[in-house]
Amino acid sequence: MRLQDKVALITGGAQGIGRETTLRFAAEGAAVTIVDLNDEAGHALVAELEAAGQRAQYVRADVSQAGDCEQMVARTEEKFGKLNILFNNAGIMLPDDDDAISTSEATWDRTMNVNLKGVFFGCKYGIPALRRAGGGSIINTASFVALLGAATPQLAYTASKGGVLAMTRELAVIHARENIRVNALCPGPLRTELLMKFLDTEAKKQRRLVHIPMGRFGLATEMAQAALFLASDESSFMTGSEFVVDGGITAAYVTPE
Ligand code: NAD
Repeated sequence: MRLQDKVALITGGAQGIGRETTLRFAAEGAAVTIVDLNDEAGHALVAELEAAGQRAQYVRADVSQAGDCEQMVARTEEKFGKLNILFNNAGIMLPDDDDAISTSEATWDRTMNVNLKGVFFGCKYGIPALRRAGGGSIINTASFVALLGAATPQLAYTASKGGVLAMTRELAVIHARENIRVNALCPGPLRTELLMKFLDTEAKKQRRLVHIPMGRFGLATEMAQAALFLASDESSFMTGSEFVVDGGITAAYVTPE
């Protein structure tokens, strides 16, 4: 098993990418702390894993709150004895996130607080725990929108993900000699709740699909496989990278008909 005896903490772990990654990490031998605000889905996922003989716990925490993030790390060390893998994955995309003129200050602030400050808090409390474990792997979920501009705007979201990439690089450099690797996962457009709520008509979906060379949305399971590689020792010489898993969208100038 690829994560035998490892302990992972996954934010936004009850749904979408986080849920699929939780299932994958647990199947590969890791004990997992699932952090989310969706208590029902979090508890149900723990029950599912325990029924399969795997180790998991659910911790309710809002990643935009420092105290919650301190708690989620403390409870991981309490229950499983250490922390080896920190997946800062929770993120939001608010419906009125638009261009500079239309986006409200409240939407800007909430998006930044969850998507960017949440990653900072994860690292603020997670890095000391990784140090105590002798090192580890941090994965921060950014997005392909941190690499390309889009005419269908979501300005706060895009800016927050750009911040995640910049922060990932700097963290990687700071902690490289401590056996702590820090990489960003940059998913392309996925068929998960987050994006499908935003692209809520067939026309909006087609407007996005036309740019993806593979002609389909990605799956949360495909992100879980990428996260597994970044979490495991198989990526031992990778740090500070933008790991792009996007169906070719960032490589394309014109896509096939
Ligand atoms: P999702 O909405 O399916 O799941 C996100 C989970 O995070 C939910 O369970 C939600 O309850 C939880 N969450 C939200 N705010 C939280 C908070 N403040 N504290 C703790 N948990 C919180 O989304 P997803 O598609 O799985 O996205 C996961 C990550 O991937 C996000 O960072 C997102 O920005 C990023 N991403 C998604 C796509 C896409 O197309 N879906 C593309 C690129 C990047």
